[in-house]
Amino acid sequence: MSLNSTAATVATAILAFLSAAPLGAQERPAITDALRPHVAVDDAVWALVGVRLVDGTGTPARDDQTVVVRGARIEAVGPRATTAVPDGARVLELPGHTVLPGLVQLHEHTYLGGAGPVVQMDLSAALMLAMGVTHAMTAGSQLPEQELAMKSAVDSGALPGPRLHVTGPYISGTPALQTFARATTPTDARAVVEDWAARGATWFKVHNGPAEILAAVIEAAHARGLRVSGHLCSVTFGDAAEMGIDALQHGFITDSEHVPGRVPGLCPRGNQVAQADVDVAGPAVQASIRRIADSGAAVVSTLAVYETFVPGRARLDPRALEMFAPTPRTAIEAAHAGLASSGFTVPERLLRKMMEWERDFVAAGGLLAAGSDPWGTGLAPGYGNLRNFELLVEAGFASEEAVRILTLNGARLMGVDAWTGSVEAGKVADLVVVRGDPAADPSRIYGTTLVALGGLGFDAESLRGMVRGRLAGGR
Ligand SMILES: [Zn+2]
Repeated sequence: MSLNSTAATVATAILAFLSAAPLGAQERPAITDALRPHVAVDDAVWALVGVRLVDGTGTPARDDQTVVVRGARIEAVGPRATTAVPDGARVLELPGHTVLPGLVQLHEHTYLGGAGPVVQMDLSAALMLAMGVTHAMTAGSQLPEQELAMKSAVDSGALPGPRLHVTGPYISGTPALQTFARATTPTDARAVVEDWAARGATWFKVHNGPAEILAAVIEAAHARGLRVSGHLCSVTFGDAAEMGIDALQHGFITDSEHVPGRVPGLCPRGNQVAQADVDVAGPAVQASIRRIADSGAAVVSTLAVYETFVPGRARLDPRALEMFAPTPRTAIEAAHAGLASSGFTVPERLLRKMMEWERDFVAAGGLLAAGSDPWGTGLAPGYGNLRNFELLVEAGFASEEAVRILTLNGARLMGVDAWTGSVEAGKVADLVVVRGDPAADPSRIYGTTLVALGGLGFDAESLRGMVRGRLAGGR
């Protein structure tokens, strides 16, 4: 596909979305003109043979497996020796490759907010899919209208991408930015939920608090069967969890409960740095971890974005950087170069405490999912999600457990685990094929070759080629 025609099809899709039939969540996507150049496997029945399988449930990886896909579904999974491939199926014999479930991700901004002006990362859906993301929740937005339009473009087949779960604007009693929805009273907060639910938002995100705003958002969203996440500071994780929030974003760094000198109900100043000297193994933090885990609230790990704020550790990934158009790329490079003097940095020891906290949360039975939070500090969609895999392994999780955090756990949090999130017979065929073995070498996780969405196989490199040099470039 030519680069110019890509931009044209995206623009056309946004105009056409009202008349488009939505992508059936559990169906194989229809092959449109926009998708066709990137489709590698569209056979009715096909099979991956001779692959290593990490199925997303946390069970140990298995070698020399066969995965049979029929239509949108996985028909069979098992050892090659005992798993028949149906007559007429297309066979993809892929020794030396690993198959994972599609990634289910819960902090996937499609706008660039941390470097230069706020702009939409207009091709981010295609890049997410290229890197294996098959479900993405946007986790608050400064451009919610544009995200709904992007979802419509994806659902109508005008833009390759994962199933998008769009969040309304950030809801805040004390908004940090003008683009946030200010909710001074619970009535305001309920009105924001009603308005954006009617427009198609299925998640809401509360920023900071306060508690009465969070409570109103939770009540209004849950009454509609919708979900709530938060980037909190005036409300502790433990309190929000007991109030019924679905997902606490970012983990330990944003749980204000343990900040020395905290005033209840207020956001502490400089909490990130203050948390760095808190003892995660101590009784107060451990009691809070148990309280959150017992409440059933999930936590969304976003280690990769915080790593971009650690001086001396943060590195720009050249493969991710080359996806951006020249102007945002320059802004990202400048933001990275200015990190030390930016006024917000994360000490290395705090990143390690975040890792320790997440291990303890999982050990306590907590549901840990993940998301990338691609901000203007160096993460790109897709690449940030996969950097989280490397960091979760560095944190001490077995690679199979890290995959579960990125897949089945996210599906549980989204309420879609009955039909996706793991590679099991009967589930929808949302699959990722990578070259090599990420258990032996975590960096192999970036080597996506084929990504199946509802049984339709996309050529990952073709999708990357569509985006390269153009992300967030505008039209
Ligand atoms: Zn965010």
